[in-house]
Amino acid sequence: MTDALIYYGFTPHKRRWECQPSVESMELLVDAGYPVVYHPCREATDYADGLRKVWHHDGPLVIIEHDMVVPVSRLRELLACSSPLCAHTYWIALGVAGRRPMLSACINPLGPHGNARVAIGDSVAWYAGIGCCKLTLKTRQAMGLPGLVTWTDLEVEVNRATTVSGPWHLHWPVLEHHHGFMEAPNVRRNNQAQPANGFTLVRPSPELVTAGKPSRRSRASVAHRGNG
Ligand SMILES: [Zn+2]
Repeated sequence: MTDALIYYGFTPHKRRWECQPSVESMELLVDAGYPVVYHPCREATDYADGLRKVWHHDGPLVIIEHDMVVPVSRLRELLACSSPLCAHTYWIALGVAGRRPMLSACINPLGPHGNARVAIGDSVAWYAGIGCCKLTLKTRQAMGLPGLVTWTDLEVEVNRATTVSGPWHLHWPVLEHHHGFMEAPNVRRNNQAQPANGFTLVRPSPELVTAGKPSRRSRASVAHRGNG
C-alpha cells in the first residue's frame, strides 16, 4: 500500500453544495485504503496550519481541496508518477457568472495574477493551483515549511516548491472542480443551500494529524450526516 498521505484541506467560507461531490470522492479514496487527513478549517490560517502539521510526513504528500473531485484512478496516477512535483489541472471560475474560465496553471512563476495560463495538454507549469497536487518528501524538506498564511496565500507558499524541484508536471484531463458549480439563478447563494442528496463528511483522525507515517488502522472515519 501507499506511504503517501492525503491532506484534505477545507477553506473556511465554503458552501456545502460545492463540497458534497468532493467529500463523496474522498470517501471513495478512504474506502480504497488511502489515508486521508481531513482538516476542518474555521479561521483563515487553519488550512496552512494543518498542512504544516503533516508537512514532514515520511512519504509523498497529496493536497486535495474541499471542492475537487478526485477519482481513485487519478490519485493513483499522481502517486505513480516519478516527478517530484505534480499537479492535476482544473478550470477556475467555470460557470461563475461574469467571470472568464481559466486553467489552474500558469506559464511563469509570478503567481496567479496577470500570469499567462497554460494551454490544454501542456506538460509543465511554473505556477499551479494546489487543488490536487503531489509533493515528495525531498521537495518539501528542501523548501521548508510553508508559512502560516491565509488560504489564498498558501497557494503561493506551496508554489515555492518550483524553486527547488523545477516546474510542476501537469496531469490531464482537467479534474472536476465545483467552485461556482451549480451557480444558477435557481440556486440560492448562501451557506444554507442544501445538496440534493445526504451530505457526508470525512472526519479528521487526530492521530493522523501529526508528522510521521500513518498506521493502516488510523485512516479517516466517515460519518453520515443525513439530509442536511
Ligand atoms: Zn506527474
